[in-house]
Amino acid sequence: MSAFQSHNFSGQKALIRVDFNVPLNEKFEITDDNRIKGAIPTIQKILKDGGSVILMSHLGRPKDGPTDKYSLKHVVNHISESLGGVKVDFANDCIGEEATHKAAALLPGEVLLLENLRFYKEEEKGDEAFAQKLSKLGDVYVNDAFGTAHRAHASTAIIAKFFEGDKKMFGLLMENEVSSAEKVLHKSERPFTAILGGAKVSDKILIIENLLGRANHIIIGGGMAYTFLKAQGKEIGSSLCEEDKLDLANELLAKAKSKGVEFHLPKDSVIAEKFDANANTQFVTNDSIPKGWMGLDIGEEAIKDFGQVILSSKTILWNGPMGVFEMEKFQKGTRSVADFVAEATSQGAFTLVGGGDSVAAVNKFGLADKVSYVSTGGGAMLEYFEGKELPGIAAINK
Ligand code: AMP
Repeated sequence: MSAFQSHNFSGQKALIRVDFNVPLNEKFEITDDNRIKGAIPTIQKILKDGGSVILMSHLGRPKDGPTDKYSLKHVVNHISESLGGVKVDFANDCIGEEATHKAAALLPGEVLLLENLRFYKEEEKGDEAFAQKLSKLGDVYVNDAFGTAHRAHASTAIIAKFFEGDKKMFGLLMENEVSSAEKVLHKSERPFTAILGGAKVSDKILIIENLLGRANHIIIGGGMAYTFLKAQGKEIGSSLCEEDKLDLANELLAKAKSKGVEFHLPKDSVIAEKFDANANTQFVTNDSIPKGWMGLDIGEEAIKDFGQVILSSKTILWNGPMGVFEMEKFQKGTRSVADFVAEATSQGAFTLVGGGDSVAAVNKFGLADKVSYVSTGGGAMLEYFEGKELPGIAAINK
C-alpha cells in the first residue's frame, strides 16, 4: 500500500495541492472537469478517515494579482457537487488572516478551498517564505497536482521541505499518473509503440530521443510528419515544415535505424487547398503533394499501416493528433488511431494517452474509458517522457 493509502488522516488537516486549472466559458461554467474529477478520490479518502481538507490550486495565468476572471470562487459549487454535496468553504486569499482562521476552524469532514495561488507572484517564483506561510495551514501535505508537477513552484515543490518525511505524500491521482507513466517507460510489455503527432517536431524532439532507447515502434503523424517527409526528399507542398529541423529529422531517422526502432511515417495524406474546414480536398501519396496544397490529415494507407502496428502492440503511448482533428474533413486519421488504441486495449494492451490534444481527441470521440489511462497532465507528461525529473515528484521522493 502506498504512503497515502496507509495514512490515517483522522483528526488531521490535509493541505492538498490540486490542479483545478479547468477551462471556463464566458459564464464561468466549467467546460471540462476532468481535473476536478481526478482529485475527488483523494479528497474522499481523507474525509472518510475523519480528516479535513484544505485545497489549493492555480487557475489560468493571472498577470496582475487578484482578478475576478481567474478567481477559484467560480469552481466552489462544482467541487461541492462532485463530492456529492459536501459543503465547500472558500477563503478569498490563499494566505493571511481569513485563510489561517478558516483552516484552523475546520472540523473533520469539512473542506476549504483557497483562492488562486498565482495571485501571488511568489507562487511561480518558488518563494520559500510564501511556501512556508501556506505550509502552516495544514498538518499533512498531499500533492495531487500532476498537471503542474513539472514546475518548481512554491505550492508544488518548495512547500514539501516544511513537512517531515511521513507528513508529505502523493495523492491517489498523482500515484496513478506516475505508476501509469512508469509502466510505459520502465516496465513496458513488448512490443512498445509510441504514437506521436501534433503540429511541431521541435516540441517533440526530446521525447523522440528518449523513446529511441525504449520503444520498438515510433509512429509519426500530424503536422510534424511533413518535416520528416521533406527531410527524405519528398514534395510536401505547403504542408507544415520546420526547415531548420530537416537535418535533425534525418539524424533521428538514422538513430532509430541504428537502434533497431521501426519508424513509421504516413505514406499518404488528405490534402487541402487552404487551412479551412470547407477547403477542397484530395487524397494523395506523400511523394506528390502539389504546390500550394497542404497535408492536414493522414490518408487511408497510413491509417492501415498504423493500425497494423498498433493492434500488434502490448504497450502504447499516444501523444498528439494525426491531423487537424478539430475540423471534420481532417479528423478521420485521429479518430481511426483512437479506435485502434481502444481496440488494442480491449485485446490486453496497456495504453496511455497523454498530452492536451490527444486527450481532447479521445474525449471528443467518447473513447476515454476505452483506453487504460488518460493523463491529466499535458506538459508534465511530456517532460516525464523526455526523461526529466519532475520537481513536484522529486520534492516528495527526496
Ligand atoms: P500539438 O499542440 O503540437 O500537439 O499540436 C496539436 C495541433 O496540431 C492541433 O490543434 C492540430 O489541429 C494541429 N495539427 C495536426 N496535424 C496538423 C497538420 N497536418 N497541419 C497543421 N496542423 C496540424
